[in-house]
Amino acid sequence: MRLDELRMLEHKYPKLGILLSKLESYLFELSVIKSNPDIVPVLLAKKLSIDEGLALTILMLSDEAGLLEPGYQVYCAKTDSYLEEFPRLKDIPSNIFCSYDNEYHDSQNYEVELVFHFTRLFQDKYLKVAA
Ligand SMILES: [Zn+2]
Repeated sequence: MRLDELRMLEHKYPKLGILLSKLESYLFELSVIKSNPDIVPVLLAKKLSIDEGLALTILMLSDEAGLLEPGYQVYCAKTDSYLEEFPRLKDIPSNIFCSYDNEYHDSQNYEVELVFHFTRLFQDKYLKVAA
């Protein structure tokens, strides 16, 4: 594995070794397509043929290891359009302006999706050449 942080996780959780190396390949694969892609738990789960809970677990471990960070993306429930992203769940306001419907939506009218992004550390340490 190229990522020291994942190697440390593997040392701590040997059973996750294969999954972590698959995660690493997936992250580098994504980094070629986009410099800071959305890493979507359900897509990772499909890619690795694991359930979403396990995908979320390895993403959260990567967050703790400093490689990835969460983002909470808010979508308009009526038009499915992306509205805004927040670093923490508690940062999401109870009303968000939707320019597609030209009105404020409350939590009944928006949906939140958890994604992950590369941290600054990940980008600086491993993606400098690619960027
Ligand atoms: Zn809307």
